[in-house]
Amino acid sequence: MTNKPSILCSSDVAGHSVRSVVARDEPERHFAHALLDLASALPTPDALAKDDATIKAIVTTPDFHPGKPVPVGVVADVEGAVLPHLIGSDIGCGMRMLVLHGITEEDLKDPQLDHQLRHLFFQGGRDVALTGYDRYAILRDGLPGLLDRLGHDRTGLLSKLDLDQAWADLERQSDHGVFACDDIDPDFADYTQIDDRHRRDAILGTIGGGNHFVEFGCVDQVADGAFARAAGLKSGSVVVVVHSGSLDFGQRIGTATKERMRTSSKVRLDWRIVSKDRQPALYRRFMNGHANAANAAFANRFLLGLTAVEAVSRILGRQIDHHLVYDAPHNTVWEDGEVVRHRKGACPAKGADAMSAGPYSWLGEPVILPGSMGDGTWLLRGCGSGDLLSSSAHGAGRRLSRQEARSNAMIGGGLRVIGPVDPLSPALHGRRDIAAEIRARLNEEAPDAYKPIDSVVEPMVEAGMVAKVAKIRPLLTVKG
Ligand code: 5GP
Ligand code: MN
Ligand code: MN
Repeated sequence: MTNKPSILCSSDVAGHSVRSVVARDEPERHFAHALLDLASALPTPDALAKDDATIKAIVTTPDFHPGKPVPVGVVADVEGAVLPHLIGSDIGCGMRMLVLHGITEEDLKDPQLDHQLRHLFFQGGRDVALTGYDRYAILRDGLPGLLDRLGHDRTGLLSKLDLDQAWADLERQSDHGVFACDDIDPDFADYTQIDDRHRRDAILGTIGGGNHFVEFGCVDQVADGAFARAAGLKSGSVVVVVHSGSLDFGQRIGTATKERMRTSSKVRLDWRIVSKDRQPALYRRFMNGHANAANAAFANRFLLGLTAVEAVSRILGRQIDHHLVYDAPHNTVWEDGEVVRHRKGACPAKGADAMSAGPYSWLGEPVILPGSMGDGTWLLRGCGSGDLLSSSAHGAGRRLSRQEARSNAMIGGGLRVIGPVDPLSPALHGRRDIAAEIRARLNEEAPDAYKPIDSVVEPMVEAGMVAKVAKIRPLLTVKG
């Protein structure tokens, strides 16, 4: 029996009031399970008070689903502390959307594109030559830092870059592609001090595993013409959607912070709470390292987008003009005056009045909401709903756990998916165990493993969080 919770509801979780916008047809058990995970993750008001901190508000989005140590689809406003585990380990993970000019869906049907994508993303074909200075600039100054360094003398992928366009695209980046910080965390020194010559980067520009992806799609349906025009989209436009994070940078800062909490005091501290007043050095260090990781994630998505464009350019034998629709992270903390807004798997969705400059001025913040490789992606616009913390779901969210999906979901026919290894590859003949493992991993990502996209989007439209702009039909998905 499925008893669905109503679209908007409030619950008491570990002594905090939580407001939820719930997916359509959400089974009550699924929602309750995610709330239980949230309860075990949230420090109680008393524990927070000992550290001079308070949680001011918590919202869950309709893609809310169980996760350890914290469920996915949570926004929390905290005063006086940062709660690092509340944004998860993939700091800066987010979505990017590009539109390609002068290309139609037909152009992407060439099977050579699949080979080219596999070559560039997985077989060492991607050539991003970065120096130690470039890497330093990325971690400290984000995407503008990288662009600043790219004036001349470039080889590989970066030599193909239209630098003026890349600078102009920064207007379409959340936070203009940079989280401010004092310097790079000493833990990242090894990455920036490799050497001073241009070297192929082994880290940035890789998709990462699991649900990270690069997907080509086609605008199928335009719901808001004015906004779509501002985004440069019309029916039939070909887009690239990128979902990726900070690879191991975020993980390293999270782990290091926890370790520093453990060793910084003789008294046992609650490692979940980094108090602004009681552990000021640790607080600054986390915020700084968080910015480094988020900056790496901005650069990573930028390079992934360029790589996708390069694959198309190679099969068509010409330069492809493109511009950015939007890029925003969904796992981050933002300091806003006294409040630290934590998002774990939730997009910022500012309303029209908060977007007073740039291409989306007086329109609202673009929200990229992917469903699955079967459902594609909705481009939405934020409505700035104050009591829902100006946020939106960041995906459809899992319906089946990874374990359930391995046996219950199926990558159906008709989906064009490219992974590091082709399960039908002749090289795998006689290795049925490996082929079965590849299939099982793909099944974790099958459309059935995720909620239907509209069951997440409709309640948010009803609750006034977002409005629809354009639906993107998936054409081809590259899965890390
Ligand atoms: P995250 O990993 O950030 O929590 O979730 C990202 C979201 O992306 C998931 O909730 C899911 O709805 C969506 N997603 C996962 N894989 C794919 C895919 O291959 N294509 C598209 N369009 N969406 C996906
Ligand atoms: Mn991620
Ligand atoms: Mn993500």
